[in-house]
Amino acid sequence: MKIGTPKEVFEGEARVAMTPDSALQLQKLGHECFIETGAGVRAGFLDSAYEEAGVTVLDSAAALWETADIIAKVRPPSDEEAGRLTADKTLISFFYPGSNEALMELCKSKGASVIAMDMVPRISRAQKMDALSSMANIAGYRAVIEAGNNFGRFFTGQVTAAGKVPPAKVLIVGAGVAGLAAIGTSTSLGAITYAFDVRPEVAEQIESMGAEFVYLDFEEAAQDGAATGGYAAPSSPEFREAQLKKFRELAPDIDIVITTALIPNRPAPVLWTRDMVEMMKPGSVIVDLAAERGGNCELTRPDEKLVTDNGVTIVGYTDFPSRMATQSSALYATNVRHMLTDLTPEKDGVINHNMEDDVIRGATIAHAGEITFPPPPPKVQ
Ligand code: NAD
Repeated sequence: MKIGTPKEVFEGEARVAMTPDSALQLQKLGHECFIETGAGVRAGFLDSAYEEAGVTVLDSAAALWETADIIAKVRPPSDEEAGRLTADKTLISFFYPGSNEALMELCKSKGASVIAMDMVPRISRAQKMDALSSMANIAGYRAVIEAGNNFGRFFTGQVTAAGKVPPAKVLIVGAGVAGLAAIGTSTSLGAITYAFDVRPEVAEQIESMGAEFVYLDFEEAAQDGAATGGYAAPSSPEFREAQLKKFRELAPDIDIVITTALIPNRPAPVLWTRDMVEMMKPGSVIVDLAAERGGNCELTRPDEKLVTDNGVTIVGYTDFPSRMATQSSALYATNVRHMLTDLTPEKDGVINHNMEDDVIRGATIAHAGEITFPPPPPKVQ
């Protein structure tokens, strides 16, 4: 099959869904690879590198969409891109079908197959295709780097001839994939790191990474943030109050807050309120990784960085993976390549869109002229 990757059209998006390395692997599966000219430049992959890897460079988006049987990209397609799909084409990209119904209808009306990388079931066998996790890992790392960039001091404590420097105190709220990556980065930079999650089962993991789990003064059995299939559920008002009380105690002493708390299919819970921001010291930094879903901090403005009247910097960028485009493209392209490996079981360049396979079925949101979202629950864990 002809696999093609266009240049991302979303403003500011620097990632690319195919790298020279992933293209080499795709060719081993019997596929031919195509890329739109300049598609990899912002991620550090030049046309010449693709050509060396045996990829054909096409000079326009129109030529790419026309030529490719399978289009692999990062962001959900624009309406114009979706309009270029036809019944014999398959699109592989992030899609967020739950909030993109009209776009899904458009793809279906074209008869195309669509594989949403954000719908890959989170089961062990599919971890190599779990693009949400690979991007969350990068976002967590980058959030700490971004915080450091906006913080006027060291993370680690130092005793120097010019004076003693105390270590920074960092609080990570939410210890999913992004939060754990942030904890690892923060502790490795030498900060005193605290972390909190409504899922008490992550306490051990947090402590094994050298951070301190923030326990609440709240009866364990009543911690109803407990998981639904490994994810958090909304907290009871009592639990939330206990959590906010704890955060109010911590706020005056914490230098950097990184929030990553999310609940599936809901706006982000507001956990760092205006009065907490007002209690923080001047020069403190908040990086809100939940900004895209409304933000965990009451004052976050998505896609913006602001400094409050009391000198606290609040970073609400929503494009952290794109800010590390070389790394995120390499990982995303590998996730896509693994998906294509499973779609090419005989390694003969022939796609078998096997709807009996839990992972392929789970990620497929349109197929054979039908919308196939939401999928049935996976049979195997
Ligand atoms: P997520 O991005 O949905 O949420 C981030 C974190 O926020 C979660 O840890 C959640 O518990 C926490 N949170 C929600 N409300 C909160 C609150 N009020 N206060 C503090 N924290 C709050 O999470 P994720 O990174 O997608 O991971 C969620 C789960 O999925 C985890 O159990 C993880 O181990 C699991 N997972 C499994 C796989 C796999 O098996 N392939 C891959 C990735 C994640």
